[in-house]
Amino acid sequence: MEIKKVVVIGSGTMGSGIAAHLCNANIPVTLLDLKTEISEQARDRIHKSKPPLLLNKSKINNIKVGNILDNFDEVKEADWVVEAVVERIDIKHDIYQKIFKERKKGAIVSSNTSSIPIKVLSQHLSEEEKKDFCITHFFNPVRYMGLLEIVKNENNNLEKINALKNFCETELGKGVIVCNDTPGFLGNRVGVYAMQIAMTEAFKMKLSIEEADAIFGRPMGIPKTGIFGLYDLIGIDLMADVLKSFIKELPETDKFHQVAREIPLVKKLIETGYTGRKGKGGFYRVNKTDGKKVMEALNLETAKYSPSKKINIKSEKVDLKSLINRDDKYGKYAWSVISKIIKYASSLVPDITKEFNDIDEAMRLGFNWAKGPFEMLEEIGVANFFNKIDEYQDNNFLENLAKTKDENFYGERQKYTDIETLGKVKKTATSIDGNNSAQIYRFKDYNVVEFTTKANALDYDSMDALKKATDKPLIIINESMQFSAGVNLSYTMDFANKNDFKSIEKFIRYFQETCKHLKYSDHPVISAPSGLTLGGGFEVMVHSNFVASHTNIVVGLVETIVGLIPAGGGCKEMLARWLDTDEARKDPNYASLKVFDIIGYGKTATSPVEAEPLKYLKPEDKRIMNRNSLLEVSKKIIEDNRDFKAPSETKFNLPGNTAKEEMIKILEKLYNDKIILDHGMIVGIELANVLSGGDTSIDKTLSEEDLFKLELGAFMKLIKTKETQDRIKHTLLTGKPLIN
Ligand code: NAD
Repeated sequence: MEIKKVVVIGSGTMGSGIAAHLCNANIPVTLLDLKTEISEQARDRIHKSKPPLLLNKSKINNIKVGNILDNFDEVKEADWVVEAVVERIDIKHDIYQKIFKERKKGAIVSSNTSSIPIKVLSQHLSEEEKKDFCITHFFNPVRYMGLLEIVKNENNNLEKINALKNFCETELGKGVIVCNDTPGFLGNRVGVYAMQIAMTEAFKMKLSIEEADAIFGRPMGIPKTGIFGLYDLIGIDLMADVLKSFIKELPETDKFHQVAREIPLVKKLIETGYTGRKGKGGFYRVNKTDGKKVMEALNLETAKYSPSKKINIKSEKVDLKSLINRDDKYGKYAWSVISKIIKYASSLVPDITKEFNDIDEAMRLGFNWAKGPFEMLEEIGVANFFNKIDEYQDNNFLENLAKTKDENFYGERQKYTDIETLGKVKKTATSIDGNNSAQIYRFKDYNVVEFTTKANALDYDSMDALKKATDKPLIIINESMQFSAGVNLSYTMDFANKNDFKSIEKFIRYFQETCKHLKYSDHPVISAPSGLTLGGGFEVMVHSNFVASHTNIVVGLVETIVGLIPAGGGCKEMLARWLDTDEARKDPNYASLKVFDIIGYGKTATSPVEAEPLKYLKPEDKRIMNRNSLLEVSKKIIEDNRDFKAPSETKFNLPGNTAKEEMIKILEKLYNDKIILDHGMIVGIELANVLSGGDTSIDKTLSEEDLFKLELGAFMKLIKTKETQDRIKHTLLTGKPLIN
């Protein structure tokens, strides 16, 4: 079965996300709704979406739109019809009747329902029709969330379900988990329970919402939105509906009921329009006081808002053992939440799935957790867990584990896919080396470096690991969300605060040396980025000999935003790329000015399609829809380049003053138009000096070392200024740029 055309019915949040992602995979798709205006508006929303749902915005018109009265004929040509209308069974039944009357023989029909069991959805279908009907449960936002749950019915043609699974895995890049027909399937059943336990325990233990979010977030390997922040993001009213549907579907004995009871404060928030970010606010709100926007947080006891407090629990890394053993309210809360999640998830095996690993994967792919409940148990340690836990009645999984006390109970990872992923092969690495910021995995034919810091920010240790790992072909890849958000600014600021600029200089020199080493080592170096690949992260990638990029990357040189310039060879490599163009061969100023425009504005690209025109990526760099495949593609690159020879050193002929003068004219205009302020001007002049080649002329040839020196000189001048330090501190504190 080949899927060459798809019709999506219902153009709301999910239908439009699914259509956009099919467009990303170059599959012809038609989006139908009650009225054409509704699907047209959906297409507009796709076009304007942030982060963008489309890899390539210029393809927006490849999504055809229409309505279910005049354009239902589209269904006749589709190989797959996805229903994504409102969660109402009567409406869904009506639609299926129409679809099955019109569909091409054998075409797949699926529903995106999040809560209606397949036996209910398919109850009016004939046996023949049931063969081709299933649930395809995508997560929002469809382009970015890795999980797709497929739910079969007992009549399904299994070959067809497998073909659909393969299509969604290869073409749409999803992690596809085939689940049983149980309420909420895997992801939501455990994920919503986890959210509820995190919320109800915060109420019970009298934690503030900021405190709960500070624990049920990064320290637990969970996105930093936390629990109350996530509630606001999803919509407090929508969550109430989700809970109602679980209460309706689950037997009274299910522990879910205990955490899904209505909370008076939550009810009041919904009734008064405080439904979260889409409403007047929720657990958090932005309030204007004296013309200034202030983030406020709700007090769970008094139901009053006051300015939100930053909670520092002084734990940078995910370390569950230390977290649950803390002798304070944070440790108690963490243990209570984690242990209850582990208990609930394990109580569902084998009813909702016989592979407990699938639950972990669903939490990773559908909720962006670093580890699922069973991996958390593994990290805490089996003996440790049973020493601490009070009871685990009627839980076969835990009862068995308590008997065997097998610390290695986990076994294989990522069972849902046949792809050879990093998660699977890591365990087979023969010897492991590493430090605080990165792990080196050694295999027979290659090495892997995986960064391990928060957002994979880079420091001296990260560079050390890279340098040590080039004795074989090297793949730089990781399992977390970001490839690397760049150099660790806190690390740099710690030195700056102590006026220890010598150490900063030493670090930047080492960064440059390492990048050069990556480019010229005897073995090929492959970067496999996904997520943020910014600043120093980009510099690591750009010095690699090959790139296998996930389609969901955010890539760019953003140093100027914090008052710095790229100094790990980012200016140098971007110049090299732009010098190698016909325009640059004709116009000596062309490359410098182009790179000045890109780095000066800190331009970022949100997909390989956007990255290529900026030359952040090269045409020959690989683009991969399925993040799981990054390792396989990287290994294939090694295989295809057995006779690899390091490139010869790049030489630069740069124009010097003529280009610099033009750049300064641009800066003066921006300054006069008040787009940049005093320090913006200073940063701009430093950048202009580097990109024009400094004190040089076009007939003089500069080496890579000359450019590294220029970068380092500019970087050190800027980092010593109070204004750059103010920018860095502001960004570290608020996550936003400071314009000074
Ligand atoms: P939505 O309310 O954003 O959109 C529903 C769309 O269906 C609307 O545009 C509406 O006009 C259209 N519609 C209603 N009746 C129709 C009909 N008879 N024919 C054609 N179109 C019709 O809803 P949504 O959030 O996109 O959810 C759609 C489905 O996906 C639901 O089953 C929901 O449970 C499920 N789901 C939602 C999410 C989520 O995060 N929103 C996640 C996973 C699954």
